[in-house]
Amino acid sequence: MNEISSTGPLSEEIEFERSLRPRRLDDFIGQERITDNLRVFIRAAAARGEPLDHVLLSGPPGLGKTTLAGIIAGELDVELHTTSGPAVEKAGDLAGILTGLEPRDVLFIDESHRLGPVVEEYLYSAMEDFRLDIMIDSGPAARTVKLTLAPFTLVGATTRSGLLSSPMRSRFGINAHLEHYAAEPLARIVERSARLLDVETKADAALEIARRSRGTPRVSNRLLRRVRDFAEVEGDGKIVLPVVESSLDRLDVDARGLDDLDKRLLTAIIQKFGGGPVGLGNLAVSIGEEKDTIEEVVEPFLIMEGLLVRTPRGRVATALAYRHLGFTPQGRGPQARLFE
Ligand code: ADP
Repeated sequence: MNEISSTGPLSEEIEFERSLRPRRLDDFIGQERITDNLRVFIRAAAARGEPLDHVLLSGPPGLGKTTLAGIIAGELDVELHTTSGPAVEKAGDLAGILTGLEPRDVLFIDESHRLGPVVEEYLYSAMEDFRLDIMIDSGPAARTVKLTLAPFTLVGATTRSGLLSSPMRSRFGINAHLEHYAAEPLARIVERSARLLDVETKADAALEIARRSRGTPRVSNRLLRRVRDFAEVEGDGKIVLPVVESSLDRLDVDARGLDDLDKRLLTAIIQKFGGGPVGLGNLAVSIGEEKDTIEEVVEPFLIMEGLLVRTPRGRVATALAYRHLGFTPQGRGPQARLFE
């Protein structure tokens, strides 16, 4: 493919992601608890010739939800149909999508928490009974059209499972929560991607990219791409540790992979709240972010890295967070000192 085409940087990025996306369960690295279970459920459904139970995939962005939806369809050997919560505006849109499904097909709805309440209501009967009763017109002319659907599998993805209504959540038979990746599986993802891109990469260099990827495969792949540029232009094209270190430093990529929002959150706890404990509501207001973005997208990684702890009285920045951001742990509250 011509890299400098008229497709623009965004679609180039999408194309790049697509080219690195694993297609089979065996190529999906990490998250073994989820993939082991899925393998069993998929095999059982296929053996019975039935659709797989509906699957809810939740977790922060870039961890592989879309990839898994594609893998599920691939392993079931059926068609994948993709849409997203905000794109299904009316019941009619939903009817159009559902009536286009063949038996056992997979319908992937990204950002499922953003489906409107009316559409969600229709989706319930579609998920439960593979039936859709659509009201047409209103007043005396109102009538219902009953549509029978092919039995299908809905794969819903959400970054904010807390925003999903509970009737919706209860209709998924399989519920999988993706966690951030540790450095070791991420390094294997970097090595796999490097192989596909045909760039020679040393193991320590792959591990360093992994460490600086915020536990997120999408970030790993993006960093690999940038480092490849440096290696090609300023080196001999091979990805080795010094090239990774210098290029990521020059790109201002944090040594632990923290992004801007992570740093703003930790800095606010340290500077505005004396290291904590601080309640979620106060913290959200002080950095101008929504509470559940903080809870479901930002904090899980900071907790995994030992930079933040949740206590009954609120969030506390650890000594490690102070050191990492270059603060001295002076004047820390009594609760904070417990986490030296
Ligand atoms: P999400 O839908 O959760 O935002 P995606 O499925 O789009 O995330 O994944 C982002 C990119 O990361 C994909 O291009 C894919 O190549 C890569 N990726 C994600 N998870 C894995 C994995 N477990 N193994 C290999 N690559 C992965």
